[in-house]
Amino acid sequence: MKDNYRDLRVAVLGGGTVGAEVAHRLLEGAGELGSRSGAGLSLIGVAVRNLDAVRTPAIPKDLLTTDAQSLIVQADIVVELMGGIEPARTLILEALGSGADVVTANKALLAEHGPELFDAAARVGAQLYYEAAVAAAIPIIRPLRDSLAGDKVNKIMGIVNGTTNFILDRMDTDGLSFETALAEATELGYAEADPTADIEGYDAAQKACILSSLAFHTAVPLTDVYREGITAVDAAQMDAAKKSGHVIKLLAICERRVDPETGEEGVSTRVHPTLIPRTHPLAAAHGANNAVYVEAEAAGPLMFYGAGAGGAETASAVLGDVVSAARRHVAGGPGVGESTHADLSSFPLERVESRLNISLVVRDEPGVLAAIAGVFSEHEVSVETLHQGGSDDPSGESGTATLVIQTHSALEAQGKKTVEALEANPAVVGVTNVLRVEG
Ligand code: NAP
Repeated sequence: MKDNYRDLRVAVLGGGTVGAEVAHRLLEGAGELGSRSGAGLSLIGVAVRNLDAVRTPAIPKDLLTTDAQSLIVQADIVVELMGGIEPARTLILEALGSGADVVTANKALLAEHGPELFDAAARVGAQLYYEAAVAAAIPIIRPLRDSLAGDKVNKIMGIVNGTTNFILDRMDTDGLSFETALAEATELGYAEADPTADIEGYDAAQKACILSSLAFHTAVPLTDVYREGITAVDAAQMDAAKKSGHVIKLLAICERRVDPETGEEGVSTRVHPTLIPRTHPLAAAHGANNAVYVEAEAAGPLMFYGAGAGGAETASAVLGDVVSAARRHVAGGPGVGESTHADLSSFPLERVESRLNISLVVRDEPGVLAAIAGVFSEHEVSVETLHQGGSDDPSGESGTATLVIQTHSALEAQGKKTVEALEANPAVVGVTNVLRVEG
């Protein structure tokens, strides 16, 4: 045993899906985790709301309490697994204020109040760990924070919400409608009774906010994250994507950009359904799995893949943070704070460049293609590919044809004006869908 071997007291706040697993693994594996940490790790209690609820795995009754504060004041490491904003925020601030290190999986809290919590930790030299807050079991926070600290991250594209990936994957592989795929996700426990946070992209936006802040050394506010969910994606779009060698994924995109006018660097953080080629590594993320694709200047492209949810899977990331916190206690010295020195501003969506895939139904008459081409050139959006469909017009109107046009990169503002002008053009029966393209 080393001279500086210490017994560290660990308090867990929350004994639900993740908390019960963490408590179980801390009790079962205390010896081994202690050896890895260089410190003894004792679970002193688990704070819950209902002392009589059934927990899986079971937590010894004498460890359960409804008094979270009494645990915090005794703990060296506090593990917050309650979720939500309050009382989690106040309890974490109390824990940090008392000098404890805190481990959390709470993406909602970090996205809304990250800077406040990181400041509180820095004031007392404590540290806040949050590996499980994005993509659960997949190590992505530590790689961005430590392994890539000497490199320059330029772009992250992540499938960071398992529920929506499950739904889109079922629509892609078996041609299910959105509604049927959502019902299946609910039945299998992938979607909550109220699926809004997942299908409208709120959950992915919180994770995008955390990733962007970390990757670009900037406190990116959640309000700067553009968000679109998957409720407008339909079976026809999925089918068209398939036919063109693409797949639709809900991507969280964090990108370093340079303003063409000022030359200033900024960041764009956005969540939206995206067409990617089926050959792209992200296209291989099936079912409820998560995947994060990182492009760094020197390292090049990196791909992280695995389980983005689940009690045991999330506990793996949480316990890794507990071991890190314990090692820090053994080594001594202040915690390593978040670096936000770059302080980059966020690009509004209109100033971001995207490639668009526009599907439209047009009148099948001479001169139509020239009219459509005219709309694009008038708005300075250049066309990369154009495919003309036959009589399988989804509108069912006779004397019409379908066109699928993919553009080169163009400012979102220009792309939006182009789509509006197409809709107003007499040669166009209707624009059936518009998707952004990556990869
Ligand atoms: P959960 O199953 O709902 O568990 C929440 C736990 O917190 C319950 O044990 C609950 O007590 C306790 N709790 C809630 N409010 C409390 C209060 N005011 N005082 C005392 N205890 C309170 O949640 P979870 O799925 O384990 O998620 C925990 C955290 O991990 C969340 O931040 C979540 O976003 C994050 N996370 C979860 C997953 C996942 O797969 N589940 C993956 C990644 C990250 P009772 O049991 O008595 O009600």
